Amino acid sequence: MANNQFMQAEDIHCSFCGRSSSDVTSMIAGPGVFICDICIQNSVEILRKNANPFSPPQARSTMRDFSLLKPSELKRALDQYVVGQDHAKEALSVAVYNHYKRMQSQSLVGSFEEVEIEKSNILLLGPTGTGKTLLAQTLARILDVPLTIADATTLTEAGYVGDDVESVLSQLLQNSEFDVDRAERGIVYIDEIDKICRKGDSPNITRDVSGEGVQQGLLKMLEGTVAGVPPRGGRKHPEQPLVNINTKNILFICGGAFDGLERIIARRLRTSTIGFNSEEQKHVEADVALFPHVEPEDLLKYGFIPEFIGRVPIITALEPLSDEAMLDILLSPKNALVKQYQKLFLMEGIELEFRTDALLLVVEKAKKRKTGARGLRSILEEAMLPVMYKIPDMKNVRKCIITKAVVEDKHEPEYVLALDEHLRKTA
Ligand code: ADP
Repeated sequence: MANNQFMQAEDIHCSFCGRSSSDVTSMIAGPGVFICDICIQNSVEILRKNANPFSPPQARSTMRDFSLLKPSELKRALDQYVVGQDHAKEALSVAVYNHYKRMQSQSLVGSFEEVEIEKSNILLLGPTGTGKTLLAQTLARILDVPLTIADATTLTEAGYVGDDVESVLSQLLQNSEFDVDRAERGIVYIDEIDKICRKGDSPNITRDVSGEGVQQGLLKMLEGTVAGVPPRGGRKHPEQPLVNINTKNILFICGGAFDGLERIIARRLRTSTIGFNSEEQKHVEADVALFPHVEPEDLLKYGFIPEFIGRVPIITALEPLSDEAMLDILLSPKNALVKQYQKLFLMEGIELEFRTDALLLVVEKAKKRKTGARGLRSILEEAMLPVMYKIPDMKNVRKCIITKAVVEDKHEPEYVLALDEHLRKTA
């Protein structure tokens, strides 16, 4: 260990960044070289990033570029898992790109040093089951950062029965395996955010405790604060040592279905004086298709306090899923349901084919449930369960074909036996 000592002498400089030993906390010496604690920290980050297959090559080459995928690269990565929703994907990609640039800017010196880039927390509006949570999950996966998904309806003002807003940070810390550094760069997805709107003005009457208090409670966290967090969750307790988590670099994504918001937007569009064609304006229908036209004032009317709206500056809407998109969800994403079943069957040595009309029926049934793409899995699972039950016992099956009748009334699928094939070939 003679060479690997901590050095404190004035004249020693880090061989990597050139910092003097007086500018850093510690300097480690190797044979003829020195490395400071800052470069060690950065090296650890780079190694950790390199384990992520999504990191582009340039992110590996320089320390400053850590985790900075370009918006187009982020969008392409999202495309592999999330069908459609191009506008939301683009808005998210830009917001995330700026979020990480903002983090890097904190160490910038020189011109623009005093310009503070604001946090780009995001609000996703859109019907249930259209991919809001999936977008947040996929982003966290692409960026290799921890994620926690919280439900706004379980959060209450401090002092009431329910979870304090800080509980979401406890979950994030747990999902980061108690690595505070990682948690401080994570993503928090808060679902059902529309359920914490203020009573009164709002068309949402499902919630009777004050949502406004929860909005107030979230403000500091969204903006950036050092919160004392009970690491194992639960209520703050004097005996439990708290861990300090700085939320300034945590990206908050809030999502909700915002039932009724379309009426508020339609009303505004109908009466707006800056409309282009007053005849057209009169006939604006209250429909979720209006969500992309949302303005902060609509959210105010819906029951959000201005301070809350100010802290989620990026607002983007997801579209209801068309039949084609639903079919695509079954077939195309990297981990599409059809692909998952095909893999399971392949492990039994059996090829699995889904007839298109069978899948279209799955889509039709899922639409009736009005839960977006969420229904697809359970409907397909229902149809596949009896088949999955039998298949491991079946001998000599080479191919299984799922027809419409399987989905319609649990008919037997069509099977191609290895023997049939053999006979057909030799006939
Ligand atoms: P919500 O918008 O209510 O948050 P989710 O993102 O949780 O909906 O979607 C539920 C499930 O439906 C997802 O796990 C995914 O399997 C599927 N899904 C929904 N939207 C999409 C989409 N755009 N692309 C691919 N899968 C989707």
